[in-house]
Amino acid sequence: MKCYSTKSGGLRLFRPDRNMARLNSSMNRLAMPSFDGGEMTSLLKEFCKVEESWVPQGAGYSLYLRPTAIGTHPFLGVDVSAHVKMFVIASPVGPYYPQGFKPVSLYSDSVNKRAWPGGVGGFKVGGNYGPTIQPAKEAMSMGYNQVLWMWGEEDEVTECGAMNLFFVLEEDGKRILQTAPLDRGDILPGVTRQSIIDLASGWEGVEVREEFPKMGDIKKAADEGRLLEAFGSGTAAVVSPIERIHYDGADININADMGSDSITKRAWDDLNAIYYGEVEGPEGWGVDI
Ligand SMILES: *Cc1c(COP(=O)(O)O)cnc(C)c1O
Repeated sequence: MKCYSTKSGGLRLFRPDRNMARLNSSMNRLAMPSFDGGEMTSLLKEFCKVEESWVPQGAGYSLYLRPTAIGTHPFLGVDVSAHVKMFVIASPVGPYYPQGFKPVSLYSDSVNKRAWPGGVGGFKVGGNYGPTIQPAKEAMSMGYNQVLWMWGEEDEVTECGAMNLFFVLEEDGKRILQTAPLDRGDILPGVTRQSIIDLASGWEGVEVREEFPKMGDIKKAADEGRLLEAFGSGTAAVVSPIERIHYDGADININADMGSDSITKRAWDDLNAIYYGEVEGPEGWGVDI
């Protein structure tokens, strides 16, 4: 989550309710106690007010907030932790792309899996991240920025790096905005992902589709000139345009120029307008402090 310094000089959080609900569900999965999300949001607001001088101003700047929970039970063994500590890591951050968007390249990993049905990929738990570092290092050594995580015999696209992943496909004169669904439990329910889905559901000529994209279909769409855009989403970068995906021995090139009609650009513009208080946005999204 981030605290933004708004155009009018105020402070604003973005969808704290969703962030708190996700932290609660992640903690519950680890047999940690529940907490009052509203109370935690009040504490965060108070914290941001007290530490206001650490909230940088300007487009792309914010105070990054990372509420965290760890077991601190002094016990050797595998059991419920009798002591749990919650704390918040806060750090001022600048724009992810200070010199304009830098599109990323992805390597579709056919060996390593980030998450699987019945696993904990749908929860933000630390153990999900460690095992992704080595595959990411290998992808980088081959000249790609991040890993595209697939699942199953049909190479279903799940996520990329630590971001949710969207494709824009042309179909029967419409633009389809497609991303993996949450119901199987292997996709992290990103707040940015949900917000883009919520916004785009109201865009004319755009149809949101929550269905696993299959890499074979993506490659075919690219060959037919119907793969219009691809981007990752997450709190840190908001959206990350994707210009190239390595799959099955070849590179798929994607237009990542984010022209005025681009969905990636529209998602970026609309979210930033809410973050920085230029528009109110849907009820409960921008929470002023
Ligand atoms: C945190 C995270 C995301 C993005 O979630 P946001 O709430 O949008 O920041 C996506 N995928 C993974 C694996 C993540 O850890």
